[in-house]
Amino acid sequence: MSAVSDNPLLDFTDLTHFDRITPADVEPAIRHLLDTASTTLATLEAADTPATWDDFVIPMTEATEHLGRAWGVVGHMHSVMDTPQWRAAYNDLLPEISGFYAELGQNEALYGKYRALHDSAEYANLSPVRQRIIDHELRDFRLSGAELPEAQKPRFKAISEEQSALGAKFSENLLDATNAFAEWVTDEAELAGLPEDVVAAARAAAEKEDRPGWKFTLQAPSYVPVMQYADSARLREVMYRANGTRASEHGKPEWDNGPIIGRLLALAAEEAKMLGYASYAELSLVPKMADSPEHALSFLRELGVKAKPYAERDLAELKAFAAKELGIAELNPWDMGYASEKLRQARYAFSENEVRQYFPEPRVLDGLFGVIESLYGVQLSHDRAAVWDPSVKVLRIERAGQLIGQLYLDLHARDTKRGGAWMDSARNRQRSGSRLLTPVAYVVCNFSPPVGDKPATLTHDDVVTLFHEFGHALHHLLTEVDEVAVSGIHGVEWDAVELPSQFMENFCWEWDVLSGMSAHVNTGEPLPRELFDKMLAARHFQSGMQMVRQLEFSLFDLRLYHEVDATQPVPIDTVLSLLEDVRKEVAVTKTPAWHRFPLSFSHIFAGGYSAGYYSYKWAEVLSADAFAAFEEAGEGRGSLLDAATGQRFWREILAVGGSRPALESFIAFRGREPQVDALLRHSGMLEAA
Ligand SMILES: [Zn+2]
Repeated sequence: MSAVSDNPLLDFTDLTHFDRITPADVEPAIRHLLDTASTTLATLEAADTPATWDDFVIPMTEATEHLGRAWGVVGHMHSVMDTPQWRAAYNDLLPEISGFYAELGQNEALYGKYRALHDSAEYANLSPVRQRIIDHELRDFRLSGAELPEAQKPRFKAISEEQSALGAKFSENLLDATNAFAEWVTDEAELAGLPEDVVAAARAAAEKEDRPGWKFTLQAPSYVPVMQYADSARLREVMYRANGTRASEHGKPEWDNGPIIGRLLALAAEEAKMLGYASYAELSLVPKMADSPEHALSFLRELGVKAKPYAERDLAELKAFAAKELGIAELNPWDMGYASEKLRQARYAFSENEVRQYFPEPRVLDGLFGVIESLYGVQLSHDRAAVWDPSVKVLRIERAGQLIGQLYLDLHARDTKRGGAWMDSARNRQRSGSRLLTPVAYVVCNFSPPVGDKPATLTHDDVVTLFHEFGHALHHLLTEVDEVAVSGIHGVEWDAVELPSQFMENFCWEWDVLSGMSAHVNTGEPLPRELFDKMLAARHFQSGMQMVRQLEFSLFDLRLYHEVDATQPVPIDTVLSLLEDVRKEVAVTKTPAWHRFPLSFSHIFAGGYSAGYYSYKWAEVLSADAFAAFEEAGEGRGSLLDAATGQRFWREILAVGGSRPALESFIAFRGREPQVDALLRHSGMLEAA
């Protein structure tokens, strides 16, 4: 057990000692930091601590900065080195950490200090960035109920507890209802069309229960291939019906999510009313970039009007193909995925495995670094530092010989690593006294590791993922803000966070950029143009139908939390008829009356996306429109990698991060408000400009 004095987790002088830290260091280090933070907070709460920037905000920020950084390392290790020891070290301390931050968010004495500072003469003389930090603190305290009259606080707390419990129950019901269904197939003819591995898995599932035949379930690895590949319309229909009526009145009464939705809507409305908002959608949008529900609604509707003709065209094509090639005269909902897959194969088939031979990892990284260097005038090189696995690389970013940030790159899947890909901050840029601490980030992916002496190869999806996560990382690392609360990705509005990441993805669809970072792993040949054209066509396949489906979900979510009267628990019929109304506006396909989509819409009832689902499209519009500035600058010059536009993107968007509103940053970069045209064009829904 490491003592406090030589605990490597408590050394904050430079990069983390990943070669020395052990799970045994966690408890003493985190306990020590929690104690130190609590002691400092107690002093700051005291009446004789002046409510000034220097005497209050600076020590307040420092009190939790080391704790945040050390706990970040523990959380990171839990994600990338999930051994039983690291898992235990993380889980043992998690309740205390969560409790500490929950109490901090509702600490009235600290809230009072921020308010006093806001009302003092000093506030007017602070920089706009510091004013923004104080405003954000006040907003967050207020939204946590800190301003409510004493008598109302217990009710506010009870609402939030009931919301958490109902959200958890919603997920459990859905999971139980999903797991309860099975379709047993005994006639081998019904398996026609299904991939071999899916059939084998279905057989293994039946064998496990000592039954003959094949077992199909509603879990994605079973359900999705059935809907895409099974020639048997009967099998598809049975599965589609079961999936579309999960956790509803069509199943076990105790798994019915209908009453939970009604209650959640009523609680959300009550919470909003207590905080002084007309609807929950208004409350949800306070810390977001969209300024009102009406604004977000009109944004979605504008996209809907433009996308719908393309969705109708997609559907007409699919119907014609199904009638002519598949003999399906009338497309039922359970035929859609099946017919679409057949059409996609007929038109755009190419092998993902063939594509990946052109993208050896070292070549892709060189290409990515080249894009970053030409756009932002920085230099990337390999750095030396302690790491948690020998395959992890450390990168150093410099501008004119000056260190500006560092990055850990952990690309390959391991048994002990959580799935998916993500970027996380390891350290925020901050100035303390005369010393400037540069930012540090982690980029973690789960790509296939190299086999034998050949380099690892990346699928095109992997390349897109890598660019996406680097977009987040650059947002964090290229910041010029010295105030830790809003430097890098901190303080950026929730619906604008994906702008820099989705922006970077666009480069992976540019012929010049992509072909420049391809070299066949055996022959060194660049990606053939013909293969690229197929990939591009497949990218746009049914993009109209996909777009209106996303818009249907977004409009339903926003209108549900903005327009429905929820002073009483809302009957499920009201919810369903609103969805029907939304479908009349944007959908092109018919959904059966018995379908119960909302009862499995976990994103908005159990996933934190309530009145926020629109953010997916919102951020896509911003990123596509930002990228269009590069397309315009590159017109006639043959290259999108325009340094002047890159410099402006860096200055106005990446460098300022959360230190000013995202809309202001966007307008400063683009010279106008965001427009939807670029996204439509990139989705194949507008003729090229
Ligand atoms: Zn992202």
